[in-house]
Order: sequence, then structure tokens, then C-alpha cells
Amino acid sequence: MHISDKLADASNGGKPTFSFEFFPAKTAQGIQNLYDRMDRMHGFGPSYIDITWGAGGRSAHLTCEMVHTAQTALGLETCMHLTCTDMPKSKIDDALKEAYNSGCTNILALRGDPPREKEQWEATSGGFRYAKDLVTYIRDAYGDHFDIGVAGYSERCEDNEDVDELVDHLKEKVDAGATFVVTQMFYDADIFLDWVRKCRAKGITVPIIPGIMPISTYAAFIRRANGPMRCKIPDSWMAALEPVKNNDVEVREIGKNLVVELCRKLLDSGLIHHLHFYTMNLAQATRMVLQDLGLLPDIEAPLEKPLPWRQSLGLR
Ligand code: FAD
Repeated sequence: MHISDKLADASNGGKPTFSFEFFPAKTAQGIQNLYDRMDRMHGFGPSYIDITWGAGGRSAHLTCEMVHTAQTALGLETCMHLTCTDMPKSKIDDALKEAYNSGCTNILALRGDPPREKEQWEATSGGFRYAKDLVTYIRDAYGDHFDIGVAGYSERCEDNEDVDELVDHLKEKVDAGATFVVTQMFYDADIFLDWVRKCRAKGITVPIIPGIMPISTYAAFIRRANGPMRCKIPDSWMAALEPVKNNDVEVREIGKNLVVELCRKLLDSGLIHHLHFYTMNLAQATRMVLQDLGLLPDIEAPLEKPLPWRQSLGLR
């Protein structure tokens, strides 16, 4: 099912909904553990999940394999991330074909970061320079089969600090056929909500989904906020977290309260009806936030129809 159709229920006065992002683990054991966690987190009731794409097509086969498993064996509505720079066009074609064959109907179309060994990204032969080129390509090749999401930036993108220009380029991606927007992480609700209003004023009418990063340790919180995105940390957050930075339990509890407050502010604004969690492949911090928001089901039921997915994957 298309993500934008799923989102319509929440925006029509229904209960807020949420989704989870995962990235391919590096080892066979890591992947097995991740499938177990995804299976458990299915019980939290996400509308859908995302699987990221390694820059330059690194670990492309793992992304495709995880999309297939999540969609077919775990029964999770899945969105595959796909980038369009620093790799041959054939990899884009192969990934789209595999997603199609797996029954996946949602793609997050991205330009991509430079691969680890490079400083700059490079255009791909076939005319892929920006994410909008990939959106156009997927629409031309697959019509309406895929719902296509694109990335949004409320504060800055790696190579662009001009928020107005970024909004103009976001509008171009939507005009090319994107049907929803997922944003980069952020901690300041006011900056984010002003940006959403700016997008709406520019004529971007598709659903905008905020990317929420739960807090598990102080070091990771600071590293991510000061990373390539350099998002603003409200003074009140630093004042609350800095004094307990060496106590992981307190950081998790206070961090949870701050993220819950952020989510409440977004939902109370009436502009946001769905929350997308960057799980970092971990369950606990996201679960704590959902619980406080009252969004967890009363019983975290296993899959409605238990599937013999472990055997089908050759797992113990
Ligand atoms: P674009 O929308 O193409 O924008 C890139 C830059 O080009 C911006 O500065 C923009 O302003 C500029 N630009 C766009 N159009 C034009 C134009 N017509 N003329 C001039 N300039 C233009 N990366 C991965 O490698 N794998 C992932 O799985 C992944 N998942 C992500 C998920 C989310 C929700 C987000 C927010 C980002 C993700 N990224 C991922 C990172 C993303 O690839 C980088 O942020 C990348 O640098 C930009 O990608 P984009 O799709 O936003 O590019």
C-alpha cells in the first residue's frame, strides 16, 4: 500500500501514526538480530518501515534483501531508500526491479551522500544529478506503481545552508512527482514548524513527515547534532542533558522527556500527523517515546498471522 494513502487516515482526524527507519547491518549475525528486532517492533504498530541505501550503492544487495524480507516475510509495509549518484544506472534499474518483484510500492528517492572514500558526490551517467532526476525517472518507468518520497531539510543540507533555496528545490522534487516528504532530524520544534509553514506557503501540499531521533546516550546525541547536518540544539535541552551526561540511565530518561515534548508540540500544531523515528536499529529509546505519547498498542501483539519467516530465511 502507498505510504501517502496510509497517512491520509491520520490526517483525517485519526490517531497519529508513526514509522521506523532501519539500516542494513554489516554482519550475518547483525542481520539476524535486526530481523528479530524488526519482528518485535512490528508489535509497536508502525504504519511502515524504511530501509536505507548505502551511499554509492555500497551494500545495495543487503538493502534489497532486507526490503524483500520485511515486505514479504515480516509483513511490514516497506519503503526502500534509493540514491542516484556515484553508481552506475544499472544499479538503480536492478534495485527498482527487485523492489517491484518484492511487492514494495514505496521508494525514498535521494541524490545521495558521497561514498566514504570520496569527498564530493558525482553525477551518474544517464542524467542523474539531483534527487528530482530520480523522481522523474521512476515516474517515467513505473507510472504510479511506486509512491515516491523525497528528503526535506528544515535547517540545512550538507552542501546548502540557504533554506529558501532548499524549499524551492523541494518544490521541484514534488512537481516532478514526489508524493511525500521525510525530513532530516532536528531538535527545535519552532524552527521546524516555521519551515513547514514556509513549505505550505510555497505550494508544497504533500504530507511532510518529521524525522525524529530518540536520545540513547549523550555522546551520540552531541555527535549527531554536530554532524554534517549541524541542527540547532535548544538551550533548554543542553541545560537538561549536560549535567547528567555521564549517567546513561538519566540521559535516556531526560532525553525521552525532551523528545516526547518535541513530538507533542509537533502533533499539537495540527500540521503534523505522523512521526518517523530514526531507530538506529535499536528498539528501547523509540519504544519509551511512543509509550509516553500513548501511541503503543495495549498489547504489543506479534504478527497477526504468524509466518514461518525464520525457517524461510534459513534462521534458527
Ligand atoms: P537533492 O534534493 O538533489 O538536493 C541536493 C542539493 O542539490 C541541495 O543542496 C539542493 O539545494 C541542490 N539542488 C537540488 N536541485 C537543484 C537544482 N535544480 N539546481 C541547483 N541545485 C539544486 N543518503 C544515503 O546515501 N542513503 C540514504 O538512505 C539516505 N537516506 C536519507 C533519508 C532522509 C530522510 C534524508 C533527509 C536524507 C537521507 N540521505 C541518505 C542523505 C541524502 O542523500 C543527502 O542529504 C544528500 O546530500 C542530498 O540528497 P537529496 O535527495 O536531498 O538531494
